[in-house]
Amino acid sequence: MGVVESILNFLLIFLIINGIFNYLVFSRAKKAAQKIQEDNAQLKLEVKEEIEMVTDYICGRTLPKSEAYILANDDQKHYFCSWDCREKFIAGNQV
Ligand SMILES: [Zn+2]
Repeated sequence: MGVVESILNFLLIFLIINGIFNYLVFSRAKKAAQKIQEDNAQLKLEVKEEIEMVTDYICGRTLPKSEAYILANDDQKHYFCSWDCREKFIAGNQV
């Protein structure tokens, strides 16, 4: 076997091993990416389930707690869909 042939053989083996290695790394990365996507989907689902809904005392609308106008009096918190509803509630309580 000549030197050139040896080098070519070595290169061929190197390329094959490299190809297998790349394939393994790629499929592993793909699996990891899939897992992350699944985890994210799960997370979104959980976040959706955790959104707390509150009811406006004045107009009866149901809305997410994070979007509600809050009035805290005594130990109680009251939630409203708008500033108007909040004002109406305050006005109503003062009468
Ligand atoms: Zn309202």
